[in-house]
Amino acid sequence: MAGFSIRFLGCKVSHTDAHEVRERLLADGHTEGGTDVAVVNTCCVTHEAVRKSRQAATRAARTHSRVYVTGCAANLAADAFAGLPENVTVVTRRSEETPAFVAGDVGALGCVQADVRLDRVRAFVKIQDGCSFSCNFCVIPLVRGASRSRSVAAVLDEVRRRVDQGHREIVLTGINLGCFRDRQAGYRLPRLVREVGAVPGLERLRLSSIEVNHVDAELVAVLRETPVVSRHLHVPLQSGDDRVLRDMARRYSASTYLKRLEPLEDFNLTTDAIVGFPTETDAAFDRTLAVIGAAGITKVHVFPYSPRPGTVTAERDTVAPAVKKERSARLRAASDAACRARWRRKIGAEDIVLVDRPGRGYGDDYSPWLVDAPVGELVRVRGASVSEEGILAA
Ligand code: SF4
Repeated sequence: MAGFSIRFLGCKVSHTDAHEVRERLLADGHTEGGTDVAVVNTCCVTHEAVRKSRQAATRAARTHSRVYVTGCAANLAADAFAGLPENVTVVTRRSEETPAFVAGDVGALGCVQADVRLDRVRAFVKIQDGCSFSCNFCVIPLVRGASRSRSVAAVLDEVRRRVDQGHREIVLTGINLGCFRDRQAGYRLPRLVREVGAVPGLERLRLSSIEVNHVDAELVAVLRETPVVSRHLHVPLQSGDDRVLRDMARRYSASTYLKRLEPLEDFNLTTDAIVGFPTETDAAFDRTLAVIGAAGITKVHVFPYSPRPGTVTAERDTVAPAVKKERSARLRAASDAACRARWRRKIGAEDIVLVDRPGRGYGDDYSPWLVDAPVGELVRVRGASVSEEGILAA
């Protein structure tokens, strides 16, 4: 039996992939903890993410006998991990094949724990992987391949299993969720959300992220009509300037983005934005700020542009680092102010909070609350004041 540890870098899909490896190792009879095996599921979305991934692998090589480097950065640039000690194996496989590969290499001990609970209130269930959109800056299609979906039956099975294990909240994850299709069963994302939302015992349901092109009347209706769906949606903007959006090969204009989100104005909307894309001028950046304000977005995940190998813009990086830094700071400040404003509106109002960590939880719209209640409980609260970290419950 091997003792293992798993860590991931990057997005919710990376998190889900890491947990799939974890579950497979537990199911094969290995135990968490100990220093035999470490798995580092990596990220390559920026140069910095690859650097941190290598750093994590280097550290793990010192503390563990065997290290498996998996995930996006391993697939993009196995040479980014060149020169690491001999106990490091770089696994250049698709996410679907990785758990079996790692488990096979570590060696199975027989199925002693076929059904393993994740130790979180929230479970991430992957419904789709890969992307066929080919945005000019993005390396994801190169490392994860074209879009493909799990079957509805497999997704529903996993959701029911997670709920039976005690998870209160499910987050449907994928690289490009709106591309989810089960042609045989006749499902696209809206119908799947409706069906998952009807699983008995499920308290909360969220989508990890969705491209604005997929936010249509049908999806909006399902989000509104499914009681367990959170009033939260993460819709990447990347830029609020039409020229930059075109240069990025995004498939919408700033006005389309705003129009599509109009019916969700009461939702807590969050986004991703890239700053310092090669054709982003000061005026273009100001338009990004303006669109974020007009859409009523709260949290912005800011990504300073970083050219990625193999992409259309791989050789272009013309905005000075200091400018990227300054624009990132302005965007983060705007995001902080928007979050605070939304939180302040909850003072005196009631919400239902799902407590996911000691002293903390999230309300119905995924706003953070500070509450004193047992982890895993859904509690009715009233907003008393706001702090740096969220809304204080009375
Ligand atoms: S939609 Fe664009 S940014 Fe998102 S994963 Fe696909 S190619 Fe990358």
